[in-house]
Amino acid sequence: MWDDLEITLQKMPAEKRKQKPAADQLGFGVHFTDYMFFMKWSKEQGWHEARITAHEDFPIGPAAMVFHYGQAIFEGLKAYRGKDGQVFLFRPRDNFERLNAGAVRMCMPRVPVEKMVNVLKSLVYLERDWVPDAEGASLYIRPTMIAAEPALGVRPAGLYYFFIIMSPVGAYYPEGFNPTKIYVSDQYSRAVKGGVGDVKTAGNYAASLHMSQLAKKEGYTQVLWLDACEHRYVEEVGTSNIFFRISDRLVTPPLGGSILGGITRHAVITMARHWGVEVEERPIAIDEVIAANGDGTLQEVFGTGTAAVISPVGELFYKGVSHVVNGGRTGEVAARLYEELQAIQRGYCDDPFKWTVRVG
Ligand SMILES: *Cc1c(COP(=O)(O)O)cnc(C)c1O
Repeated sequence: MWDDLEITLQKMPAEKRKQKPAADQLGFGVHFTDYMFFMKWSKEQGWHEARITAHEDFPIGPAAMVFHYGQAIFEGLKAYRGKDGQVFLFRPRDNFERLNAGAVRMCMPRVPVEKMVNVLKSLVYLERDWVPDAEGASLYIRPTMIAAEPALGVRPAGLYYFFIIMSPVGAYYPEGFNPTKIYVSDQYSRAVKGGVGDVKTAGNYAASLHMSQLAKKEGYTQVLWLDACEHRYVEEVGTSNIFFRISDRLVTPPLGGSILGGITRHAVITMARHWGVEVEERPIAIDEVIAANGDGTLQEVFGTGTAAVISPVGELFYKGVSHVVNGGRTGEVAARLYEELQAIQRGYCDDPFKWTVRVG
């Protein structure tokens, strides 16, 4: 269907290229590479005007439907510099497939997956000098789709923009791989079953900000969300999925519609099972977690997501009480997952699941 989509490269003059930030100045998502990918969709033409072009502002009117009704979806993945200076993407197809699943839910057009994987490979190759080689650093990639039609009726837009921007990011743990302190929210909810919690759509993140701020004010880095109906079952932590190790088994909430199906979550489940660790995808009540911590069967807690890969949890604050997990230390399974997943992502070890895509 999209075989005739032509992609052009609008080369920018060398003098317009940006200075690359120093390795210790990267931060997260504040510096952007020289180029981006951009294309438009309309009912009449489908995807068109596809181009790799300078990363720069584009015109969009104040009536664009994204500003009013929030049709916006995005993805997050990374390019890693690894063995022999080569650059690798991690499961990029899965990101475009997930974007497409979200597009259906949000009444937006789907993108051609294979074509987008190839575009991304070309874009990253073109910008390969932007992939940092410092320990833990990477090139964060943000594919995004927005409704661009200027109209105020509440209905799916007839015009969309899709773009891919890229940002060199520093190590998620500049001070090392240390457990985080988590605030369990029994007041606000992130998503409901039947809603859009399983879609990376902009509004979910806007809705989470207020609770995140409250948690930060209390000295906690992330919010652990419970189910919206009973505030009883664990859902996610911040923008990561969550795992508990209880009596040598990993337990993680099932994908029931309110939770984002993380690619890191899937990778962790697959790797753990491959090692012979039992993994249960089942509803887990916060009371069960607290009780297991009390009787010593809770061995560790960690989050999984593209940004931090694995994020160990050292403390859970719930209903006014602080519960220290595993003595506030990183658990052994979290540490092993972090090491092995990074080794796969950077091409330093075998890739038994065929997850990495080499660029160039
Ligand atoms: C992106 C995201 C995740 C993690 O997904 P990955 O594919 O592993 O990066 C988890 N929860 C939420 C809410 C997210 O937005």
